[in-house]
Amino acid sequence: MLSYRHSYHAGNFADVLKHIVQVAIIEYLKKKDKPFTVHDTHAGAGSYTIASDHMQKTGEYRDGIARLLDNRTGVGVIDQYVALVKKLNPVGKLTEYPGSPLISASLLREQDRLQCSELHSTDFELLQRRFADDKRVRVEKLDAWQGFKAMLPPQHRRGLVLIDPSYEMEADYLGLLPALQMAMERFSTATYAIWYPVLDRNRTESFIRRFVKAEIPNMLRVECCPRPDASGRGMTGSGMLIVNPPYTLAQHMAQAMPVLKNALCEPNGHTLVRELTGEA
Ligand code: SAM
Repeated sequence: MLSYRHSYHAGNFADVLKHIVQVAIIEYLKKKDKPFTVHDTHAGAGSYTIASDHMQKTGEYRDGIARLLDNRTGVGVIDQYVALVKKLNPVGKLTEYPGSPLISASLLREQDRLQCSELHSTDFELLQRRFADDKRVRVEKLDAWQGFKAMLPPQHRRGLVLIDPSYEMEADYLGLLPALQMAMERFSTATYAIWYPVLDRNRTESFIRRFVKAEIPNMLRVECCPRPDASGRGMTGSGMLIVNPPYTLAQHMAQAMPVLKNALCEPNGHTLVRELTGEA
């Protein structure tokens, strides 16, 4: 039974970091005409209405996307992301926050493809309905790791695999590394972007260590923690582990972090950009 609904959290500080990285990777893939595929393992509903009870109940977007909307930052990866959110809100007011599938679909070209797995019945139906007329998009009601078996490798050699579990269950932490290894065997040429929460620093570090110990090559880690580490006080930050990142991403994220720190973090919050392992 899945209880997590992303509609309570859409547009929060964690989505901001994740979606900036997602946009940056897709924009990099678009530099070549050759087609690519985005595979979204935990796709969610696709888009979220700001005025909904869920979003208004938590108001998390107010400490996330809402803090970035008013100024051009001069940092390409942030401005591209904000421009996309604004384009999807043409009335000039934030009424809808795009989830990862809508972000991908908005950026893809005619020749590119998006494939999504989502298990929650309601979110799956919303997602399926949203993309019913978009021939580039495939939506399956599948467990994320079953989705790897069913849909990888895709028809294109280039691509992004976005892995964004809700970490509701211990299995989400434990199953990720073997699932990544299985996916990389099937689709070795892709970039993999894995989101993770920071709830308890020791747990986060042991999660990351597993990937390093497994000698996954060419890994970049980026993290934005609006609050200082403090276990038991909810999510204080979040990060992304990126395997086979575009060669420009570390530099672009290093430029973005001071701006994100300023916009999203309390004075004692912190950020990180670190290359964890080199190329094989
Ligand atoms: N990626 C989305 C975005 O950025 O807009 C948000 C995804 S949300 C963090 C996680 C989603 O994973 C939820 O919609 C949840 O229903 C779904 N989910 C949880 N366990 C899953 C599983 N084993 N396989 C596929 N989807 C799952």
